Amino acid sequence: MNASEMLALDRAHVFHPYSTFINPPPVFPVISARGVRLTLADGRELIDGMSSWWSVIHGYSEPSINAALHEQIEQMSHVMFGGLTHEPAVRLAQRLVELTPAGLESVFFADSGSVSVEVAIKMALQYQQARGQAGRQRLLTVRGGYHGDTFGAMAVCDPVTGMHSLFTGSLSQQLFAPRPAIRFDGAWDQADIADLTALLAAQASEIAAVIVEPIVQGAGGMWFYHPQWLRELRALCDQHGVLLIADEIATGFGRSGQLFACEHSEIAPDILCLGKALTGGYMTLAATLSTREVAETISRGDPGVFMHGPTFMANPLACRAALASIDLLLANNWQAQVRRIETGLGLGLTPARALPQVADVRVLGAIGVIELHRPVDMRTIPQAFVSRGVWVRPFGRLVYVMPAFVMNDVDLATLCAAMVEVVSTLP
Ligand code: PLP
Repeated sequence: MNASEMLALDRAHVFHPYSTFINPPPVFPVISARGVRLTLADGRELIDGMSSWWSVIHGYSEPSINAALHEQIEQMSHVMFGGLTHEPAVRLAQRLVELTPAGLESVFFADSGSVSVEVAIKMALQYQQARGQAGRQRLLTVRGGYHGDTFGAMAVCDPVTGMHSLFTGSLSQQLFAPRPAIRFDGAWDQADIADLTALLAAQASEIAAVIVEPIVQGAGGMWFYHPQWLRELRALCDQHGVLLIADEIATGFGRSGQLFACEHSEIAPDILCLGKALTGGYMTLAATLSTREVAETISRGDPGVFMHGPTFMANPLACRAALASIDLLLANNWQAQVRRIETGLGLGLTPARALPQVADVRVLGAIGVIELHRPVDMRTIPQAFVSRGVWVRPFGRLVYVMPAFVMNDVDLATLCAAMVEVVSTLP
């Protein structure tokens, strides 16, 4: 199929994410991807700044993950997980328990990040019921969060940017505290968590769990907050018998400069959601980990089982990709890789600070953000990046990148220079 046939069919039949079916903005046909480069149908190569929404941490078509998948597909590409088990799932569960913060010992595999959040919410509700706290039916979260697009997840996304007004009648009504306001490297002030402290004290008897993205609020605003905030939250949850759910779907596996962002605060959650980079971005897989206490309490309660079971739970191919990706992450010395990217983003994006269009520039780990005063025009801005040989997909007032950890310094400098240049041309 040539590119124009592909685009015509795409236009005729395909819905794209957060897009319209009538006169949609242009999409660019990709025919292959290798390392940090996407090849378009017309032969142009783009340096990829997005890692396919945080996931492709080792670059595309990575030889060792390819080899693991070839081997696995010859053995078994899928088998149901009810009543059966297999080595890729068991080995991956063991690996995740070893790598994640202490105390997380049970692993539930899910098929996407949003589903792993649904699973986490159900776990919290079943846990509270099982310990005789059935009145604890609500979740508490902060504004500016993003946890996915399914209904349970959407109900804890930021109420303004998270589409609540579209689905008011169908969404569970959850509790919201202000988002942590102190920057990652700012001076801590206890006042930053005062409203949440008061809310928890007043309504703890109704609250099953608090759910947050640790340290990095992603799609809700690309905001990096102070590690002390999360330490305080951990203590408050313990004080009030409320579970802490950490959504590390975006931050897990090194992105923020720690293997898991909770480690910036040296805390462990009761429930942890992982996804995206879990398979090195090869295919969809997510996991919801919990403490033994949570898993066993649920199992002792009524009906004595945890009520969830996706068809493609623990898909063997996805588990194999995850194992190969984790092996590579550890072998590659990811800390040094992420530090190098952090330095490169810092250097490359600094010139943006002087631009009148720019409100803030921030970098944490392998995440670089230029925050603008005004929203970008999504119909024109992708083309501006593509014509400069890079792939960057901003949203709202945020022009941001999270490159693969293997991106070399030259490509990183090119990517940052293109960001600064495009931003400088905006009205
Ligand atoms: N949670 C966070 C923090 C995310 O960034 C995302 C995706 O962007 C999700 C949950 C949802 O994951 P998925 O898109 O795989 O459903």
